[in-house]
Amino acid sequence: MARVYAIASAKGGVGKTTTTANLGTVLSMAGQDVVVVDGDLGMPNLAGALGVDPDRETLHDVLTGETTVESATYEGPEGLSVLPGSTALEAFASANAKELHPVIEELKERYDIVLIDTGAGLSDDTFVPLKLADEVLLVSTTEREALGDTEKTRQLGERIGADVVGVVLTRVNQSNPNADEVASLLDTGVIAVVPEDSAIREALSTQVPVVARAPNSIAAAGYRALAEALTGNP
Ligand code: ADP
Ligand code: MG
Repeated sequence: MARVYAIASAKGGVGKTTTTANLGTVLSMAGQDVVVVDGDLGMPNLAGALGVDPDRETLHDVLTGETTVESATYEGPEGLSVLPGSTALEAFASANAKELHPVIEELKERYDIVLIDTGAGLSDDTFVPLKLADEVLLVSTTEREALGDTEKTRQLGERIGADVVGVVLTRVNQSNPNADEVASLLDTGVIAVVPEDSAIREALSTQVPVVARAPNSIAAAGYRALAEALTGNP
């Protein structure tokens, strides 16, 4: 039975999708059977970060009962499986996040690790994955606003009984983080730090995750450390 992680923060643009893509790829490179699920039903962009073109059915079609999990699962980099979303507005309008439950149950039978990327805000897109996950991994930059929004996600997780494992601090540069400030704004431990790295942007433009495209980059090292901290596997 797989372990299910939700990657979450109420703040947009803090690196949730980048983290899901790279953590999934690192774990797959380490020999784990991993699937990443695009739980950001409104703005799905996980496929793009992984070089997957969702030209057949997507998670949205699974949620509306039009297709099976298997036919909406694509092959990503390094043996990673990807369950992408549809970018069509009509697909968003007809899909309901509450239908994720049986999808995740099915994936748990087939994989070692299930990672669910989530959207910004505190809507059902976030709430449902937090409920379904064994562990919640928060993602934040070190800006006050981002830490404050991420704290709200932590509180939501706590309220519904989710197990929050800690926060990945992203886009960190030499002048931050101020550890005391992080601790005062966000009530959980830092599980890994991913530096600001231009290799991430280059990777995104080629649609190959940085851990595969630039394994010697500082961001890739951060993501490998995250994988190790989470699972004990390098
Ligand atoms: P979210 O899913 O939380 O909205 P994304 O993963 O889409 O955030 O990241 C937002 C932007 O930040 C993207 O353009 C991404 O390339 C960039 N980014 C994320 N992490 C880093 C990093 N460590 N260094 C540089 N740019 C980054
Ligand atoms: Mg995202």
